[in-house]
Amino acid sequence: MKQLSTRVLAANESQTLAINAKAKAMKAQGIDVVSLSTGEPDFPTPQVVKDAAINAINQNLTYYTESNGIPELRKAIAEKFRIENKLPNVSPDTVLVSTGGKHSIFNALLAMCNEGDDVILQAPYWVSYPAMIQIAGARPVILETSLSSRYKITPAQLKAALTSQTKCVILNSPSNPTGTMYTPDEIRALAEVLSDHECFILSDELYEKISFGSVEHYSIGSLPELAHRVITVNGVSKAYSMTGWRIGYMTGPADLIQEAAKVQGQSTSNANSIAQRAALAALLHTADDVERMRKEFARRRTMFAELLSPIPNIEFLLPDGAFYMFVDIRKALQTMRVQTSFEFCKEALEQHHLAIVPGEAFGAPGCVRFSFAASDETLQKGIARFAKALQELT
Ligand code: PLP
Repeated sequence: MKQLSTRVLAANESQTLAINAKAKAMKAQGIDVVSLSTGEPDFPTPQVVKDAAINAINQNLTYYTESNGIPELRKAIAEKFRIENKLPNVSPDTVLVSTGGKHSIFNALLAMCNEGDDVILQAPYWVSYPAMIQIAGARPVILETSLSSRYKITPAQLKAALTSQTKCVILNSPSNPTGTMYTPDEIRALAEVLSDHECFILSDELYEKISFGSVEHYSIGSLPELAHRVITVNGVSKAYSMTGWRIGYMTGPADLIQEAAKVQGQSTSNANSIAQRAALAALLHTADDVERMRKEFARRRTMFAELLSPIPNIEFLLPDGAFYMFVDIRKALQTMRVQTSFEFCKEALEQHHLAIVPGEAFGAPGCVRFSFAASDETLQKGIARFAKALQELT
């Protein structure tokens, strides 16, 4: 037998996608599954965006585009980065439009990593980072955080982890899965450590538009001393409820963006031409829609926290952003028939028809992630099933 790629074999499958697939299959069998496992807003895509896509089709904008993205969209993204994120030196030439933020991050990692490189990230982490790093040939170096530190790394922790092998440090604020955000001061403190160490910094800002006022969103790429080695990634999935359209984008050092564009040019070519037109409308014309969705997420966050509060032996933080509640169930597990959050989530799905994601997927065993991107009724039903599962498994 021929040996398959060790880099790919070493990487895990996306556990969130696997759980969603199982929940969907159960639903297809007619089972009333409450699904709080998905990482996507539950609102329709704004009408102005849909109209732009329909117009694009009718105008026959249905051919290959520039591999790195249509100039109008790259210009709008460059403006967004310059005005909203205060990134210096950004221009349409250093913007790469890809098939989702996931694709952007993957292109960046493929363009920068060599065998033997380390990429630093923190746990709990977004599911895909370790696998992407491994497929790119590098090694994930994971820094542990805890609820008591609001799931944030400290400058000392980062300093101790940086070595000559460190190729990149990944930051993700607001965070999936914890919803915590680094304050501007905290980012500046991490930046001070990073200023002594020549590595890339990849700032995943996909949830930028969904924050609840407790912490101001701050882009590390705005710091002039680091700007030349920061890659800022964003996309339309979360901000504009456009997960299925698959548009992500990034900016960063010109040489890295050029190489990432080469990776894309030799693999997928341009992102979908119609979705690029839709993304342009999203960036230019949806401020009211974005605010309406943000306010609704804020309301649900409060409601969800109130529903969770009376449940004994669990701990959680009120998220600063994104639409997830990351719940530590370690205390509850001590007296339960199941030992791990993975087994708990399996039972919750199979016996109580509640789909939530085990912390193992995010490098944080003992926790579970709920999405509150769902209707009030679904959230209420979900919490009732969660409480019942905790009780019946004890
Ligand atoms: N980064 C984070 C932290 C995410 O949670 C996600 C999606 O779940 C992405 C990036 C990628 O999103 P997309 O590929 O839909 O743009």
